[in-house]
Amino acid sequence: MHITALAGGTGAAKFLRGLTTAIPPEQVTVIGNTGDDTLIWGLHISPDLDTVTYALAGILDETKGWGVRGDSFRCLAAMAALGRDTWFNLGDRDLATHLLRTERLRAGESLSKVTEAIRRALGARCRILPATDSFVRTRVLTPQGWLGFQEFFVREKALLDVLDVIYDGADEARPAPGVVEAIAEARAVIVCPSNPITSIGPILAVPGIAEALTATRAKVVAISPIVGGAPVSGPAGKLMAAKGLPVSALGVAQLYSAWLDLLVLDTRDQALAPELLGLGVRPVVTDTIMTDRRREVALARAVVEALGS
Ligand code: GDP
Repeated sequence: MHITALAGGTGAAKFLRGLTTAIPPEQVTVIGNTGDDTLIWGLHISPDLDTVTYALAGILDETKGWGVRGDSFRCLAAMAALGRDTWFNLGDRDLATHLLRTERLRAGESLSKVTEAIRRALGARCRILPATDSFVRTRVLTPQGWLGFQEFFVREKALLDVLDVIYDGADEARPAPGVVEAIAEARAVIVCPSNPITSIGPILAVPGIAEALTATRAKVVAISPIVGGAPVSGPAGKLMAAKGLPVSALGVAQLYSAWLDLLVLDTRDQALAPELLGLGVRPVVTDTIMTDRRREVALARAVVEALGS
């Protein structure tokens, strides 16, 4: 059974760790978000691809939810001493990933090739594909004007009001090699609990990917990142509201309804189940908060079971 998973960062990392315990990692293909990629000190950073890669390689700093466990920040301190901006935290070992990625991209390699090389070298056993090798960047309109996602999220700590969100470059983008096939040929497609607007949105904005989700014969299931009317973490609520969506599992279902078969929602949201049915989405109610490894695996097992039924 081959499963393809659409993934953002922190929520996806936890879920995918559970999934690759529940089923062999070799049976999983991850399609990762590149909309919040950015350039820092001239280096190409792919925060979501790295979070997922580090998690699946067993080296993620789980307390922070990003970066490498036990990393030091000596380069960051040295950059600060040189008077450089250091609002984007980069650990010393993490920097090695960005140096390698940047070097190989500048030599003309594609992001997909480099992502594959990094995940193999670090020992992540499932295939990780960026959604696209093209330039797609999430931009957030705030009262201060348009900001890149990392400027909004990390530098401004997501405190600014959000007026709009766009995916710059998406119209001309193409899915990375293997992405459409991974959706078409999967036994099932799972949309991880990830920010619907800034993690899954940029993936869906690449022409051909939403179409592949509509066309696939595989069942498509999503896990709601919104629990009890608020995101478990991060700015998803503010961003969904800016797009006119209710901040609830129902809002997630509305956004995905064109191709979604099942939505996994938390026990505390079970009252929303009849409204999901009204959208043509089958509700699966279970505990979805992953506070430890046992809960990550339990959620993954519940999702796999729901796909089989
Ligand atoms: P960001 O942090 O919003 O930029 O986006 P990410 O896509 O990296 O993922 C965070 C998303 O995962 C948020 O929308 C969270 O609500 C969700 N999330 C994080 N942990 C959990 C969890 O344990 N359970 C569920 N259901 N969602 C989670």
